[in-house]
Amino acid sequence: MDKIRMQNPIVEIDGDEMTRVMWSMIKDTLLKPYIELNTAYFDLSLTNRDKTDDSVTTDSAKAILKYKVAVKCATITPNAQRVDEYKLKKMWKSPNGTIREQLDGTVFRQPILTDNIRPVVTCWEKPIIIARHAYGDVYAGVEFVADRPGKAKLVYTYDDGNIKELDIFRYEDKGILQALYNKDSSIESFARSCFDFAIEKKMDLWFSTKDTISKKYDHHFKDIFSSIYENEYKKIFVQIGIEYFYTLIDDAAARIMRSKGGFIWALKNYDGDVMSDLVSSAFGSFSMMTSVLVSPNGEYEYEAAHGTVTKHYYNYIKGIETSTNPIATIFAWTGALKKRGELDGNQKLIHFSDILQESCIGVIKDGFITKDLQNLVTNEVKTVMNTKDFINKIAERLKENYK
Ligand code: NAP
Ligand code: MG
Repeated sequence: MDKIRMQNPIVEIDGDEMTRVMWSMIKDTLLKPYIELNTAYFDLSLTNRDKTDDSVTTDSAKAILKYKVAVKCATITPNAQRVDEYKLKKMWKSPNGTIREQLDGTVFRQPILTDNIRPVVTCWEKPIIIARHAYGDVYAGVEFVADRPGKAKLVYTYDDGNIKELDIFRYEDKGILQALYNKDSSIESFARSCFDFAIEKKMDLWFSTKDTISKKYDHHFKDIFSSIYENEYKKIFVQIGIEYFYTLIDDAAARIMRSKGGFIWALKNYDGDVMSDLVSSAFGSFSMMTSVLVSPNGEYEYEAAHGTVTKHYYNYIKGIETSTNPIATIFAWTGALKKRGELDGNQKLIHFSDILQESCIGVIKDGFITKDLQNLVTNEVKTVMNTKDFINKIAERLKENYK
């Protein structure tokens, strides 16, 4: 059989620990036998980020701007313990943060569903995709502990020298204080990424904040979404029969529990952080969640939602067998390859990606699983496998299915 050719490369961003181990297994066993892989490769292992003073991370982000499609392996975000462990020059920033800054993107998280893993919420039949605004708010906030009585004020100094002051609170005793910000340009690109993604997926889009309480801050998000929708997207939404609707976050939380799923739920930074963990655990396993960063200019970066699975890796290097689930990492690859296929009109690449995904689902449906899924699948007969055997099982299925 002739291998599939790729007209343009995808950006391949390698990473750390157990996911790095699975990365090369996936390439060797599932991809290279079928595809003449064309990638712009960047090694974002912590060791190489340290060696290059992290320039490799910025270079990889620039390559995404150039080639439009990327697949990323999980990477270590160093903390003090990692600085010790890897003898780092400094505590490098989160690579995901650096890449996100360059792309100004929105992160969409989508669970991978199979018939034999029933969501905890029994009425959910279709995936709920969480779209999280990954900029500002409490993640970039300023905090203060008031250790004795005093007065808090909000002061805004315009560039022209004018000053606007608002009273916040008079402390008779001790207390705490926090200041948050966001900016219109980021909220606008968040909105456009969400509308574009809804069109691409042909799914309804929900957006919710707490605008009844936060009458300026959250309301501003609501207004920006609404104006962009009315002016730029409403026509297309009506044409393809999907809906955009805004509702209060409390109402959305209650509705979600009674819904069948099958829509995108856009949320502010903190809300999205919390809700994506809630939704992913209700759908099954953290290891069955993919994530894609979509920029307002149409760049796509696919990855697994989980980390580098450190505990498993420490066993792996001691020679102890691990049963780490490679599904989300495989789906990151198929997501990127399929997108490459769509952008280049490469039907063979699209077809291959679909079949590989089907093969993964098929194997799990038949009860061949990794350990994390043991208590989740409903099959009477289950075969729990180690990572390598599980990937080989998928390869077998792929060989049968791919024509
Ligand atoms: P993690 O790697 O997601 O793993 C946490 C636990 O979840 C694992 O110990 C394992 O549980 C389970 N798990 C996660 N993925 C699994 C899989 N594919 N198969 C089976 N079980 C899986 O999170 P972490 O341990 O908090 O973080 C480890 C490193 O990853 C950190 O250095 C962090 O900076 C990095 N990280 C990177 C990204 C990213 O690059 N996108 C995201 C998050 C974290 P059991 O041990 O109980 O089996
Ligand atoms: Mg979280």
